[in-house]
Amino acid sequence: MADVDVCPICNSTVDDWSHALINCNMVKCVWSLLEEDLVEHVIACNIPDAKLWLLEMVDSTKEEEFLKILVTLWATWWVRRKAIHEQEYQSPLSTYCFTEKYLNDLALISAKEEKPPAVVPSRMDLGSRRTWAPPVRGCAKLMVDAAISKNHEKGAYAVVCRDEKGVYQGASAVVVEDQVTAEILEALALASDLNRTKV
Ligand SMILES: [Zn+2]
Repeated sequence: MADVDVCPICNSTVDDWSHALINCNMVKCVWSLLEEDLVEHVIACNIPDAKLWLLEMVDSTKEEEFLKILVTLWATWWVRRKAIHEQEYQSPLSTYCFTEKYLNDLALISAKEEKPPAVVPSRMDLGSRRTWAPPVRGCAKLMVDAAISKNHEKGAYAVVCRDEKGVYQGASAVVVEDQVTAEILEALALASDLNRTKV
């Protein structure tokens, strides 16, 4: 803890959180590299309580703007500590570039997380170039097909069950001696075996 109420960077006699993170000469140079409208908004809000100030920022900015404010506050705090306690100085441009890179990395991570679940192609999908579409949330999807042999003596039906993420749950295949008419019943039987009530 500092024992004097003077900013060690610019000798200002007011050294509270808003001076350290927004108004000190050193951090002003970082803020000046951000979008003018956003910086004006940050400076115009003069609520003395840090927590209330942050709440006001959450309410009055878009999500990406608020994120930019937070990362800039965090980076300037780190740079300021380095300068005061370790006499290591970083240029405002380096700090600004760090925040930009950090925000870009965050955006990349969120984009990856929002990707739809991977689609598992089945043999049938590959043949017809159709893509498996996930079912409604919370439901399992049963894909069923049936075929009859060329001489019409035998038939078969098969059913595959996947959950909403395309994860294989189970399958069933039956060869029958007569005409194939029960594929839907087989699908429902599989659903019951797998304990899936929503299909
Ligand atoms: Zn200062």
